[in-house]
Amino acid sequence: MCHYHRAALALYLHPRLIRTRTASILCKSMKHHLDWSSYKTAGQGDAYAGIPATGGDFAKAVAVCISDKLCQRTPKGVMCPSFRATDDVAHSPGGRVVVLKAALNGELGKDAFADPGLAAAMELCVGCKGCKRECANQVDMAAIKIEYQAQRNAQRGVSYRDQLVASLPEWLHHRQAARALIHWRNRTPWLARLGESLLGISAKRQLPEPSVAAYSAPASHSVAEATDRDVILFVDTFAMHFDPEIAQAAHQVLTAAGYRVTTLQPSAYDEEPERALCCGRTYLSLGQVEAARREACRLQAALRPALATGTPIVGLEPSCILSLRDDHLKLGLGEEAVKLSKQVYLFEEFIAREHDRKRLSLDLKPLACGKTLVHGHCHQKAVGAMKSLRKVLRLIPEFEFEFIEASCCGMAGSFGLEAEHAEISMRMAEMDLLPALRAAPDATVLANGFSCRHQIREGVDRQAIHVALLLRDALDAESSC
Ligand code: SF4
Ligand code: SF4
Repeated sequence: MCHYHRAALALYLHPRLIRTRTASILCKSMKHHLDWSSYKTAGQGDAYAGIPATGGDFAKAVAVCISDKLCQRTPKGVMCPSFRATDDVAHSPGGRVVVLKAALNGELGKDAFADPGLAAAMELCVGCKGCKRECANQVDMAAIKIEYQAQRNAQRGVSYRDQLVASLPEWLHHRQAARALIHWRNRTPWLARLGESLLGISAKRQLPEPSVAAYSAPASHSVAEATDRDVILFVDTFAMHFDPEIAQAAHQVLTAAGYRVTTLQPSAYDEEPERALCCGRTYLSLGQVEAARREACRLQAALRPALATGTPIVGLEPSCILSLRDDHLKLGLGEEAVKLSKQVYLFEEFIAREHDRKRLSLDLKPLACGKTLVHGHCHQKAVGAMKSLRKVLRLIPEFEFEFIEASCCGMAGSFGLEAEHAEISMRMAEMDLLPALRAAPDATVLANGFSCRHQIREGVDRQAIHVALLLRDALDAESSC
């Protein structure tokens, strides 16, 4: 039975959990779901590192925290949205490390990854990577949470909700049925309530609705004849099924800038050639590492010719593209994954890079937008990609914009849609983002993240745009936002 059918069964079955894997054993040679070998020497020889007794290299990744409590300071920085929203050090990165260390030291018993105390510590981590960027020792709690979730899934099974959400790229393949169901659910309170009681999806939240038609790629060229004006456009699940106009705009802008754009298609050997390619992000963030690896392998196979010719790969969704550069290196996919991580760019990074190299010929005109407020996706901020965005926005003549100082918007993939997290998700959005938007009611809003745009729509009923749409509009004289 495929994920789609299994998830559909959830409408009829209870309880919420099924067991899908045998439990892994917590011991010195603990089975890891991610590859933590890059931490092999972390803390080695440091008497104060406090490396836990079990967990191998994963334990060393946890032990890079030096307990300086920087993440628990007030006034709070933007490091940890869950700490900021709860005012509780237990929900700071350092607070989580304390419980993880206890688990890996055997203090929570042999089924430590199923322990409610550890679940409580990890529950509100939204995987924003703020700690990786801001903490002095770059604790990567977002990756640690993926391993934790995978371990927990192995012990407790995967909830129907997590199966349903993670397999989004699969069931969106049946897009007309999916679209009709979501459309009906969003307009039918009793159905939304049923979804909440059976699956735990908040009835108070609207679900993003797939677009009428998926993105359809224009005719492409063979990368075997690649030139230095070729680019590969990777259209992720969200752009493909929800916001195809963003992919169309990116194609149009790159073409206008003089590039030969090829939209990435599944490889000739793909077992599901009709299904769109996906980076596996939805699986990964819910700890379904095997499924994420399967999606990553499909993507890698499709990219093999581009990797061989060195053709730049350009994508649109920060969480997808930056996964390829970061989390995918922990999937054990070998040298090709490393090569891909160095060859993949966010759309704005590619435009900024080409501009710096004096290879860009984009004839951009002023836009009648007024001031634009820019909300950066957490992962864009975590890798310092906001600089590129700033650079690209400056290419538009007379363009007036301002970056919003905010941490995670609180949607964080499906986190904000979960019944038990819907309220705190909105609290995170209310810390900085939504007040800043309300203070400028007429401003255009730019947000490159799919989840961020959804949270903004839910919070202040405004439609944020992707930078690709903005640049496309700026190609036309006297266009507005
Ligand atoms: S997570 Fe980072 S900032 Fe927080 S206590 Fe540990 S080292 Fe310090
Ligand atoms: S990833 Fe984000 S939410 Fe999780 S601990 Fe780090 S800063 Fe906090």
